[in-house]
Amino acid sequence: MSSDDARRAPSVWVIVVAAGSGSRFGGPKQHAPLAGRRVVDWSIDAARSVADGVVLVVAAADEGAEEPAVDALVVGGATRSDSVRAGLAVVPDDAAVVLVHDGARPLASHALFRSVVDAVLAGADAVVPAVSVVDTITDLHGVPVDRDALQAVQTPQGFQGPSLRAVHATRPEATDDASLVLAGGGRLRTVQGERWNLKITEPDDLVVAESILEQR
Ligand code: C5P
Repeated sequence: MSSDDARRAPSVWVIVVAAGSGSRFGGPKQHAPLAGRRVVDWSIDAARSVADGVVLVVAAADEGAEEPAVDALVVGGATRSDSVRAGLAVVPDDAAVVLVHDGARPLASHALFRSVVDAVLAGADAVVPAVSVVDTITDLHGVPVDRDALQAVQTPQGFQGPSLRAVHATRPEATDDASLVLAGGGRLRTVQGERWNLKITEPDDLVVAESILEQR
């Protein structure tokens, strides 16, 4: 790529949200050690592999922490959506593509980040990685739900910068951002997720994540 091409390339920013309290984990899981580093360091590295800039969103207790691997550090809010908005506030206005990634998903690969960015550049308003559901699923009364009609949605999720800003302007709440874009009438595209793109939720998940990283 020539330097002229590089200047024209749409800029890609990733917001890594890591401000959760880890109530199910029993503490801030983003700091838990994983294969010699912190969980969040793996997430930042994968984000960096596609990004012009990375924003890390942390809990108030981590305000002012030294995080040399990121371009901006901001304090998150009470909910995940609040934390995404805190990150979005420091993403440059001209960022063409904005990804949101859970800091608690340290196993998402460079290839997955790349496929999400490429799908946004191809024109989708929002892009989600998803995997099929392998377990039999029932409702709380034991009545089966058709799993062929279901998928498990992951991060990184990718967006046209203006689309993500538009849906967050009214301060909505959701456990992910693509569902907000879809509800607002945006074009949603699904890409193949990764079965091992675990969200670290309970301490045992670290054992699984560590053994997967050792195989890479
Ligand atoms: O709680 P959950 O596992 O769904 O959180 C998903 C991601 O969102 C985690 O990386 C967590 O740190 C982040 N989060 C956040 N701010 C909150 C709640 C969750 O950044 N208030």
